[in-house]
Amino acid sequence: MNKIIILGGGESGVGSAILAQAKGFDVFLSDNGPLLDKYKAELDRYSIPYEEKGHTEALVLAATEIIKSPGIPNYAPLVHKAIEKGIPVLSEMEFAKRYTSAKMICITGSNGKTTTASLIYHILKSAGLNVGLGGNIGRSFARQVAEENYDYYVLELSSFQLENMYSFKADIAILLNITPDHLDRYDHDMQKYIDAKMRIARNQTEADAFIFWEEDPIVSKEINKLASTGKRYTFADHKIGNAVAYLNNHKIDIFTPNSNFIMEQDLLALEGLHNLYNSLASGIAAKLLDITDDNLRQSLSDFTGVEHRLEKVAKVRGIQFINDSKATNVNSCWYALQSMKTKVVLILGGTDKGNDYNEIEQLVKDKARALVFLGVDNSKLHKFFDGKVEHTEDTSSMKDAVQKAYELAQEGDTVLLSPCCASFDLFKNYEDRGNQFKEYVRKL
Ligand code: ADP
Repeated sequence: MNKIIILGGGESGVGSAILAQAKGFDVFLSDNGPLLDKYKAELDRYSIPYEEKGHTEALVLAATEIIKSPGIPNYAPLVHKAIEKGIPVLSEMEFAKRYTSAKMICITGSNGKTTTASLIYHILKSAGLNVGLGGNIGRSFARQVAEENYDYYVLELSSFQLENMYSFKADIAILLNITPDHLDRYDHDMQKYIDAKMRIARNQTEADAFIFWEEDPIVSKEINKLASTGKRYTFADHKIGNAVAYLNNHKIDIFTPNSNFIMEQDLLALEGLHNLYNSLASGIAAKLLDITDDNLRQSLSDFTGVEHRLEKVAKVRGIQFINDSKATNVNSCWYALQSMKTKVVLILGGTDKGNDYNEIEQLVKDKARALVFLGVDNSKLHKFFDGKVEHTEDTSSMKDAVQKAYELAQEGDTVLLSPCCASFDLFKNYEDRGNQFKEYVRKL
């Protein structure tokens, strides 16, 4: 019997295990670290064998196929050995796609994936389609394939997931942007990260759609290297080149073969330039799926946004606090700063992923009243920013960071948590970081 080994026992791994077992495979799940109790209980309930806090190499290398969670890099020694031995190493998506004929709407990019995937899901669901949301978000895709029967899936895909996708094809692929991120997992080689992202268009044919940002300097070059031929649709913040969706006289225009959609920009629920891109990309996808103009207009205007992304928390004595904890790279912080209309006290720092702060230098000089560094090691931030802004402060807990930012801000200012960095030095994850921020703001 084919032996499927699942590496990693989080939502992705456990969902894959459930699907593999439902399809009659001999399944074993192995995790290097401890498993959460809820996942252990679930594996027990399905009688799926597993091990935690270490891999038994012989067992793993006896696999017919390995399904690898995205958190484990391909260069991890055991994965490397498996690849050398010729064992196929798949992502959850590659595996689960074998068992569904649903239409796939897939979103990747360095920034904006969750927002755009959630918005498209909202549009399709509000229009009455039978749709699931998965990938890097919420319930595992594989678990949904095992337990539901959706006609459409909206999948948020990271570069790590794309790396281990081979015959998977997106009916609609969206590539929002490519800027440096996760370079620590790509030997600090930007091209390797770019190559992973471009896999979103893999295997597409003329019948499929590839949606991307017309002016992305990287994608516009890489697109010429693509072997696949998905029909191309681009968006931009003004009418340019081949863009089919753009801003024109304070209105968004979306022209696809079956649509001529126009809507006042003011009515869009999401604010900021970055969210204009997200709304345009979502609008193209929706029109390609024949969502009516009325439904699209309604959904683009009543979407409530996603937590930890430019989330307004509270106004305290005239100071607006905004939680953008999900800004884990420099580019997303750039967009956050760019959308600020007041002076800003910016809280940033954490686990550096090979950041280059030159990108935000000018915006920081223009808009930041002060910077509050929040991390175990703030030395790189000091080295770059000291002398460029009037105040820089060192903190190593959210409580202190919020207090310091509050003291430094003046009435009418914004205190923005948009850290440019991962959170793992001081927090469990970016949600924990954002939640602590909100908690201490509310205690001010
Ligand atoms: P991802 O899932 O790709 O990390 P999110 O939707 O969670 O993206 O947003 C992450 C951060 O990036 C947020 O801080 C948000 O303000 C910013 N952002 C959202 N959309 C874009 C975009 N299209 N371009 C640049 N930054 C964006």
